[in-house]
Amino acid sequence: MNDVKIFSSGFVSLIGRPNVGKSTLMNAFLGEKLSITSNKPQTTRNMIKGILTESDSQIVFLDTPGIHDAKAVFNKKIVDEALVALEHIDLILFLTEPNFSKSGKPFVTQEDAYILERLKKSNVTKMLIVNKIDMVDKVQLLPFIDLYKSECDFEDIFMVSALENDGVDNLLGSIRKSLPDSVKYFDEDYITDRPERFLAAEIIREKVFKMTSKEVPYSTAVMVETFKEKPKQNLVVIDATIIIEKDSQKGIIIGKGGKMLKKIGAESRRGIEELLNIRVFLKLFVKVSKNWTKSEVKLKEFGY
Ligand code: GDP
Ligand code: MG
Repeated sequence: MNDVKIFSSGFVSLIGRPNVGKSTLMNAFLGEKLSITSNKPQTTRNMIKGILTESDSQIVFLDTPGIHDAKAVFNKKIVDEALVALEHIDLILFLTEPNFSKSGKPFVTQEDAYILERLKKSNVTKMLIVNKIDMVDKVQLLPFIDLYKSECDFEDIFMVSALENDGVDNLLGSIRKSLPDSVKYFDEDYITDRPERFLAAEIIREKVFKMTSKEVPYSTAVMVETFKEKPKQNLVVIDATIIIEKDSQKGIIIGKGGKMLKKIGAESRRGIEELLNIRVFLKLFVKVSKNWTKSEVKLKEFGY
């Protein structure tokens, strides 16, 4: 009998253009809402580690922001972060979704072509994940997959629907098998290495995303100034500032008679309470910091 217990572990990076479903897939893996998801691209600005520990394995997921051709300073930061993520990891999951031209021909989008270029140069094992298969006819997928296969060498190819949890378990099994035998990097009860403060900020930002439109979301950052725990009252007191770029945006966030800010506050409080399982007292402030998304110094100050 072989009683030597082999533990497998490794770092797995989710790469793909914005909105392809990376955060949704990671949440499906972890069964818990850690990384925020949104129908607007680039909500995961900071890389979030989600850690799945089981009796004989530990998978550390990096949910990276989308790689795409960056023009503004801000987008370059995002891209650089994602590229660094490609270097020291054990497995890359490249997510895409089926694209077809009007005449029904599959094609590689510009953003995917850019990512494929990078992946080709990397020695890390890669898997192709075709997400959102709930939206297309299965027979259409074969020519689509052939096209991607001809572009890059994938260890394996999976078709999933992260949203409907279709094919996710099967994929998880293959990820486990592909990981090297190794040490446990983190304690069992770790789910993320991001502090609760950060998660609270992410929830507030998610609410701003959902409740405001167009140009506001992309120039929003949230800083949690105070995070005071009061264990006796099972309460946490949070002061947070929503930072935007223009005075006009301030008006939108605050709303008529402060209505919008109140709504954002109420929804955020509920979200944080749900996640941390504790009562929350939340105070929100709004601050204009001109052109922060274009300033390197300010990006640093806000933790990007
Ligand atoms: P990310 O930018 O790559 O992290 O993408 P998100 O995980 O935030 O997802 C972007 C949008 O696509 C959200 O509205 C998701 O609900 C949606 N989405 C994600 N996975 C699926 C899927 O398998 N099927 C469908 N129909 N929608 C999905
Ligand atoms: Mg995301």
